[in-house]
Amino acid sequence: PSTGLIVSFGEMLIDFVPTVSGVSLAEAPGFLKAPGGAPANVAIAVTRLGGRAAFVGKLGDDEFGRMLAGILEQNGVAVDGVLFDQGARTALAFVTLRADGEREFMFYRNPSADMLLTPAELDLDLIRSAKIFHYGSISLIVEPCRSAHLKAMEVAKAAGALLSYDPNLRLPLWPSAEEARKQIMSIWDQAEVIKVSDDELEFLTGSNKIDDESALSLWHPNLKLLLVTLGEKGCRYYTKSFRGSVDGFHVKTVDTTGAGDSFVGALLCKLVDDRSLLEDEAKLKGVLKFANACGAITTTKKGAIPALPTESEARIVLTG
Ligand code: ADP
Repeated sequence: PSTGLIVSFGEMLIDFVPTVSGVSLAEAPGFLKAPGGAPANVAIAVTRLGGRAAFVGKLGDDEFGRMLAGILEQNGVAVDGVLFDQGARTALAFVTLRADGEREFMFYRNPSADMLLTPAELDLDLIRSAKIFHYGSISLIVEPCRSAHLKAMEVAKAAGALLSYDPNLRLPLWPSAEEARKQIMSIWDQAEVIKVSDDELEFLTGSNKIDDESALSLWHPNLKLLLVTLGEKGCRYYTKSFRGSVDGFHVKTVDTTGAGDSFVGALLCKLVDDRSLLEDEAKLKGVLKFANACGAITTTKKGAIPALPTESEARIVLTG
């Protein structure tokens, strides 16, 4: 088990997912309440694998907010940095499962509590105790959570944390695609570890090629590791001194929600106590194989949080 603390910053919400595909939530015979939000999923991915994680973000002081905080606690994620807004409600997403398997989201953010986190409310001591500080992009969309996000990054970095970024693009939330690209790129050169999906690589580069040239066009001098995830095909990795790919695992996929968060959680869990894997290609490949196994397992069950694996579940897939 890892010992260094991973602090994950951003949103936690509930997805309302219909029990059948091809109809809207209002027409479905039923729906599931699936807790999620990429940064919260990453925190739980870490603790499920035996690591230490804290979540920093704001929830509504309502039934959903209390449910989400309870889920963090039950999973061993530290909640000292979780705040409850007295006015706004917890963020919610209403999902449509299209007949072709894709998901469409409608968000309740009017504004939701996560958007109202202010810099003054941050638990700076908690953030300073992070060995890795991980974040996404949704908190960049509006004030005041944008300023809170920037301050948290600055404080974590000054205290020596490694900054880890997964843009986790959710285009419908942004005023425009151009604004999303601009805001994501505005914090790009501060992160030392970045994970993007193949779709995000296309979006950020504006090119429809998924190759080394396109990935390396996103390289910046502070970056220590860039990862491009490729769904069932695994991932590609880039460091200052080496690059390559690690194959994924063949599994019976039922729902890919949370696969990327599971992958990131697994990587961070190993990296938090051993930064040497950023310089040791063989070691890094071993860890990415483990992260691919964790991502693959997460696609074999519905939902994100219930599908995040333990270390022993990951070992079973790894050893075939
Ligand atoms: P994101 O969820 O961010 O879009 P991906 O879909 O690329 O990211 O998934 C992250 C990782 O999870 C992949 O690199 C891979 O290891 C694993 N994974 C995702 N989808 C599958 C799948 N269908 N089969 C096996 N592994 C998968």
